[in-house]
Amino acid sequence: MKNPFFVSVADFARGRDEGRFTLEEVTAYFLDRTRSLSGEIHACLSVNDNAINRARQLDNRLRGEKPPSPLTGYPLMIKDNLEVRDMPTTCASRILEGYRSLRTATAVSRLLSLGTIILGKTNLDEFAMGSSTENSAFGPTRNPWDPSRVPGGSSGGSAAAVAAGLAPLSLGSDTGGSIRQPAAFCGVIGVKPTYGRISRSGLVAFASSLDQIGPFAVEAEDALEALVAMSGADPLDMTTEGRDPEEMRRDFTQTSLSGLRLGIPAALFGEGLDNSIRERLADVRKGLSFDGVREEEIELAHAAMGINVYYVLATSEAASNLCRFDGVRYGFRAAGSANLREMYEETRDKGFGLEVKRRILLGTFALSAGYQEAFYRKARKVQALIRQEFLDAFSRCDVIMTPTSPTPAFSFGEKTGDPLSMYLSDIYTITANLAGLPALSVPAGVDADGLPVGVHLIGPPWSEGRLLAVAREISRRWPMPLPRVHATHGTIPGGKRGEEK
Ligand code: GLN
Repeated sequence: MKNPFFVSVADFARGRDEGRFTLEEVTAYFLDRTRSLSGEIHACLSVNDNAINRARQLDNRLRGEKPPSPLTGYPLMIKDNLEVRDMPTTCASRILEGYRSLRTATAVSRLLSLGTIILGKTNLDEFAMGSSTENSAFGPTRNPWDPSRVPGGSSGGSAAAVAAGLAPLSLGSDTGGSIRQPAAFCGVIGVKPTYGRISRSGLVAFASSLDQIGPFAVEAEDALEALVAMSGADPLDMTTEGRDPEEMRRDFTQTSLSGLRLGIPAALFGEGLDNSIRERLADVRKGLSFDGVREEEIELAHAAMGINVYYVLATSEAASNLCRFDGVRYGFRAAGSANLREMYEETRDKGFGLEVKRRILLGTFALSAGYQEAFYRKARKVQALIRQEFLDAFSRCDVIMTPTSPTPAFSFGEKTGDPLSMYLSDIYTITANLAGLPALSVPAGVDADGLPVGVHLIGPPWSEGRLLAVAREISRRWPMPLPRVHATHGTIPGGKRGEEK
């Protein structure tokens, strides 16, 4: 399959403005590729029937006019827990069967107002609960590097879509690692912004105090472009702050590696970390030191408790957020119940999958009378300690580096029988959510089995521009080969990702 177009936003905008392709051609290319790979990758749950129409309309409007943004006409995919008016939003759950959104998430409508084109909605673990997409009610997504392995999760569909070249950009959500861990498994960049950077309005809530929307991209510049477009205060989400998004662009251009202080929490590079990942990271650290990066050893004494704290707080919030799915207002309703109570019970029993039920039970238990003090309140206290020790560490360093995940992409079924080992996949990513900090995963080459390895960078609040600047340097130094699926289905075009054969 031939794709003559582009990869990055900048190449796209140039090609578009020089009239080298129409937006309709671009959109049709990605939709065709998505359809032809749907069996092999299964990244997409629904395709946008209106995409071609929108592309045509934009083509007509652009004739002779200067487009308002480099993103005008840029195609993207959206995790299926983000609402887009008149499209289904399933959250990969049976309980939302037949539901069509009445509104568009603020983050998405900001991208749409610049003229982006939604190609479709991507697969995820049901209600974003999981680390592999194996909890999707519609079957898992497969990793474009090795179809016998998971793409990570919960935003596995969005990560796989970008890796497989089904879309040059996608959106995910991250509550405990759901953007960064799949980005690492699929060899792309994934960013979780500072809590409050991007409105959560229209994101189906999992754990509201931890959830953030963020982008997946191949190039750091493109992730930046999407972040700037989505950011800023929103009256529909009172936790958003009115920071100027353009600050990120400035930090991105002004940050250099020379003299950068890189915090290394030595304890997190110890036990439980796969050797292949440790070796890759050692190589990255050595390379960065040649560029003038200075390492500072830091201690994050409470980080080890992150998983425990997260599984109390996130499940408590989820138990309460998921009350709204009761068969009355949205989606699926069990038929033939004798009374209201039975209808609630049967709807929730048939509508929710196993992991979602487990989370609701855990959260309900943690919040129940008599246990609140022992679990929920204690977890909030440890969360405050974790946040404080990060802020203290940032007086000694500019960016903290850890692995994104303790292992590369694992095989299907490897962890499904053991929830605890699945929960441990997020051991490095969870603390950034608990502390509200921005963090990203950037690929830094592959391990001996040819699987991508992600480097995890965490920064102080509002430092996304700086983090992306470091990610840009890492991508330059450790360019990624193409995922295996490109060998059978052609490459996405353009310089850095390899030429069309
Ligand atoms: N894997 C973690 C969980 O299962 C994080 C999910 C997320 O970030 N949405 O809860």
